[in-house]
Amino acid sequence: MKAWEANIRKVVPYVPGEQPKDKDVIKLNTNENPYPPSPMVREALRNLNVDQFRKYPDPAITALVNELAGYYGVKPENVFVGVGSDDVLAMAFMTFFNSSKPILFPDITYSFYDVWADLLNIPYETQKLDENFQIVKEDYLKDNGGIIFPNPNAPTGVLQELSVVEEIISKNQDSIVMVDEAYIDFGGESALPLIEKYDNLLVVQTFSKSRSMAGMRIGYAFGGEKLIKYLNDVKYSFNSYTMNQTSIDLGVACVQDKEYFENTVQKIIKTREWTKEELKKIGFSFQDSMSNFIFATHESRKAKEIFEALREHKIYVRYFNKPRIDNFLRISIGTDAEMQQLIAFLKDYLR
Ligand SMILES: *Cc1c(COP(=O)(O)O)cnc(C)c1O
Repeated sequence: MKAWEANIRKVVPYVPGEQPKDKDVIKLNTNENPYPPSPMVREALRNLNVDQFRKYPDPAITALVNELAGYYGVKPENVFVGVGSDDVLAMAFMTFFNSSKPILFPDITYSFYDVWADLLNIPYETQKLDENFQIVKEDYLKDNGGIIFPNPNAPTGVLQELSVVEEIISKNQDSIVMVDEAYIDFGGESALPLIEKYDNLLVVQTFSKSRSMAGMRIGYAFGGEKLIKYLNDVKYSFNSYTMNQTSIDLGVACVQDKEYFENTVQKIIKTREWTKEELKKIGFSFQDSMSNFIFATHESRKAKEIFEALREHKIYVRYFNKPRIDNFLRISIGTDAEMQQLIAFLKDYLR
């Protein structure tokens, strides 16, 4: 080891799902939306004024903050926008998780949480989900330095009732509780209205799944004015111009097309319900999913083996070689045609 290596911050990075170069694959491995963004986004892109690129973008991201505030019926002071919810969450970890007590999150969850905690030297303690992948709420009633969980959870797809979420928030008013709602639009009830009641709540959402804009990197959070101010203070101490002007403009256009957004989400829900029925018929089981993916295990064949066979056949799903979930596949919901091809292959393969 070189002497200078002793003083280097060493981390084990998050591993994102594969983005294959081959365009000819059925890509069901990263929970992207199978449908393109709204035609209004295309129109906004066509009308983009390239001259503006010589200037810095608006550091406060005002246009998008205001658009989101209007859409969700909150004040602009309740909205924070970042470069994907990963950026929002990383900023929020940095801002709100500064206790010497451990933060709490589920043992099976979004695999970025422990990466950020390690990067930022935040102590953490994972809490075991029960055998149905449900949160055991009592586990979140102990002394802690903060709480985070996704609802619905990833990679399980399991939704917690809002009453459970509220109990965790209300019984932890001495720390910040973050609810990561990356998949809430696919059938869950958002904790957003609770920001009026609890000043320790941060609700995080994203354009990457339900709004078909993973490539533009837009995430946002809702919270009381005080939380949002603290979050902005940290952001401005790190990088003022996080979001580029193109993402701001296209994000605004995306939010303006409510009808397209709602229709797209409904299509995906319909395809998800069809896929659930078909998977059951061929020996898969899973907890009910309220997200745009299904986390399934097979009655007789190993998940890893099915994963590899699918991949060979150019159908990409996600497999996690981790304790408790190493016999599951996380299958994103694609178009009807894609899911039909998946089911047709599996029917043949599992015969
Ligand atoms: C996809 C995902 C995110 C991150 O999404 P961005 O693309 O960074 O907005 C955050 N949390 C969970 C649970 C996710 O699945």
